[in-house]
Amino acid sequence: MTFLKTTTSKIGWNFDNSYLNLPSTLMIKSTPEKLIEPSIIKLNESLAADLNLNFDSIDKKKQSLIFSGNLLPQGSDCISQAYAGHQFGFFTMLGDGRALLLGEHINKKKQRFDIQLKGSGITPFSRNGDGKATLKSMLREYLISEAMHFLNVPTTRSLAVTKTGEKVLRDDFFEGGILTRVASSHIRVGTFQYLATKNDINSLKKLVKYTLERHFIEKTDDNAAINLLNNLMEKQISLIVNWMRVGFIHGVMNTDNMTLSGETIDYGPCAFMDHYNPNTVFSSIDKQKRYSFVNQEIICHWNLSRFAETLIPLIDTNEDNAIKIGSEIINSFKEKFNLKWTSMIKSKLGILGSMAEDNNLILKIFDWMEKNNADYTNTFLKFMDKEKINDDVYDNLTFKNLYLEWNNRIKKNKIPKEISEKTMKSNNPKLIPRNHLVEDALNDAENNNFIKFNKLIELIKTPYSIDIQKNKHYCSPPDLNFTKNYRTFCGT
Ligand code: AMP
Ligand code: MG
Repeated sequence: MTFLKTTTSKIGWNFDNSYLNLPSTLMIKSTPEKLIEPSIIKLNESLAADLNLNFDSIDKKKQSLIFSGNLLPQGSDCISQAYAGHQFGFFTMLGDGRALLLGEHINKKKQRFDIQLKGSGITPFSRNGDGKATLKSMLREYLISEAMHFLNVPTTRSLAVTKTGEKVLRDDFFEGGILTRVASSHIRVGTFQYLATKNDINSLKKLVKYTLERHFIEKTDDNAAINLLNNLMEKQISLIVNWMRVGFIHGVMNTDNMTLSGETIDYGPCAFMDHYNPNTVFSSIDKQKRYSFVNQEIICHWNLSRFAETLIPLIDTNEDNAIKIGSEIINSFKEKFNLKWTSMIKSKLGILGSMAEDNNLILKIFDWMEKNNADYTNTFLKFMDKEKINDDVYDNLTFKNLYLEWNNRIKKNKIPKEISEKTMKSNNPKLIPRNHLVEDALNDAENNNFIKFNKLIELIKTPYSIDIQKNKHYCSPPDLNFTKNYRTFCGT
């Protein structure tokens, strides 16, 4: 099947597809499914502007063709990427079963972005799947990934959502959708696992070099594999600590969903935590609570260990030596994570410097939140701006004493009060996309009513500065019963 290519230079596409120079085992040429009447639902104009793309002069019909893959941009060269992955601990050969990389677009700042269609039909890696996605799940990814971006958490982004005009069969028939995803790259821990399983050391070497050049500054005097392992560990620790800062639960931290760029990827069953409980799991399939809020640290460590294993042949020709070096790096994880996590929580609490009582105070606050089912986001705001957060959960002596204890500690900061306040402001979001509101907005959107969805899209753009008083509806948690019964689904 042939697809038209856009001839217009007005949009500003500037493709340079470097991934195609990697060994061919890492990809298969693929084409999007031909659709009769796709229609664009959402175009992220500010992201388009950051990419130096301009769709103003392109009518909706043509935009719909572009963002469904039915009119391919000049310079694109479609592939589906091969990768493997540990899914819930079990190893599987995977690959883009419902995604297609159009290519890498370079903006005027010389930044490189993967432009990928998700839900665009069957690929050589589809296995038993239909290669499709529901419109609702793609709108969900659009909303949550954009929220993460504005919360200052590294993430892939969403350029557009298109309705396919065709139904997708899940447990019922649903509207089909395609997301145009923008990412620093789609290289995953699973990409390395794919080559390591095939014992393709030459290709592995090339992928290590490519990844270092694309995402990190290559230090030529060091061993490239060791360099990459150390760099990825730093990035992933920062990412997971950042998730924990805003109460994000990814829900499916399989190794194929861990990027080398350190961006959050694959917004399937993810959700934000309202009432604090470290064991929170929303994903309906995660019966063992493998990917609970608190376990994200342990899983990050586990995934990095799998990554290190793939690099053993490149770390040292002597396997025992290579294992020793790899293990030393992996064993430094816990201390590094603790340091970053403690520093993050202290920033949320405005605690500057280090005092003997700090750890105990932090533990007490977490213990209090858990015992009282207090809202994770709003409890930190209560410390920050006592007057603005009104909730009965804070009207008791235990919280008042805790607040006093915190206040006494804050007075001991050796740095001006304004600095501690500023630190708290930039680390404590006033608004997160709350589960009950997200579901409500998506249910309406599925029925062609985008009022609530568009309102949320606007609000998530200023999570640190929104006026809480004026937006109480968006800044308050749902009932505890809602949280207890809330379930999310992946692969939809
Ligand atoms: P995910 O849970 O989205 O990370 O997907 C895990 C794997 O399943 C990836 O290899 C996907 O490409 C594949 N996959 C998910 N949904 C589908 C689908 N509807 N059709 C084909 N492959 C799929
Ligand atoms: Mg995935």
